[in-house]
Amino acid sequence: MRVLVTGGAGFIGSVTGRALRLAGHEIAILDDFSTGHDWACIGKQIFRADLRDRAGLDAAFGAFRPEAVMHFAAKAVVPESVANPGLYYDVNVVGSLRLLEAMRLVGCRKIVFSSSAAVYGTPEKSPIDEQAPQHPINPYGRTKKHFEEVLEDVRPADGLAYASLRYFNACGAAPEWHLGEIREPETHLLPIVIRATMKNQPFTVCGTDYETRDGTCVRDYVDVRDLADAHVRALERLRPGQGAAYNLGSELGTTVREVVAAVGKVLGKPVPFRDGPRRAGDPATLVASCAKARAELGWTPRRPLEESIRSVVEFLQSRGG
Ligand code: UDP
Repeated sequence: MRVLVTGGAGFIGSVTGRALRLAGHEIAILDDFSTGHDWACIGKQIFRADLRDRAGLDAAFGAFRPEAVMHFAAKAVVPESVANPGLYYDVNVVGSLRLLEAMRLVGCRKIVFSSSAAVYGTPEKSPIDEQAPQHPINPYGRTKKHFEEVLEDVRPADGLAYASLRYFNACGAAPEWHLGEIREPETHLLPIVIRATMKNQPFTVCGTDYETRDGTCVRDYVDVRDLADAHVRALERLRPGQGAAYNLGSELGTTVREVVAAVGKVLGKPVPFRDGPRRAGDPATLVASCAKARAELGWTPRRPLEESIRSVVEFLQSRGG
């Protein structure tokens, strides 16, 4: 299939682009390079465009004529979404609507959408399945929920086929492809802990008084290569006029302290940290049930946290630490 990967210069988009190529698909990348990287792009078909720029989108769609879109491009930093919600609605909702219009113009009727566990907000029970109530607690999560709803409305009206993939905590790297997460400033726990240990600069544990087994937040860390595999499976199973949402996680809950211990074990040295106050808007526990993705996509999360940690270390070392 010819697949246009929006956000293909970013972390999950770039790894999925490689996985798509390995699975025999032809890809082109559309990215505004606001947070993506040239070095993460493969292939010659790279379109530099903002999602909100219809002329840029139409040029890409006209030149590449995709049969499907994988839509990763988005603003995705929760505190930034609280500080600047208008920007998040503009890029994640308005930009995504423009993308749908551009798809419609060339008869492209398949989309795999990067959604998030943030659509659930603070869950009432754990693990979380796709039927759980959705009460996002920040603008980022609300923009993802909104666009999921757009897809579900457009589906019957337009014969659209979609899969909304709700990621839990994406982590890891693909050092074999020289791909991984580089963000300044880094906000995600795993790369923060690994960098802190490699550079011997303490990081802060955000909250130690949660109702969890050791007082720190429990999250579900899922390897980016497992996520890429789920995307390829979801794409290949899209059927006209059908749509579904899937949780993608490891189904294992890991506390911040357990992440610290795992990183210390892999690197063979103590992790420097200090305990700090809670971060605003952090639910105590977020763990996925992926029964639906297992049953309908034939997907299984395979890579344990230690393997993800090793892959990040290898990737960062290959880039000079
Ligand atoms: N966290 C932390 N210190 C940091 C960054 C994150 O203790 O410097 C915690 C954060 O409070 C949360 C967990 O690590 O409980 C995962 O945070 P991350 O930002 O990676 O992902 P989120 O679950 O917020 O999407």
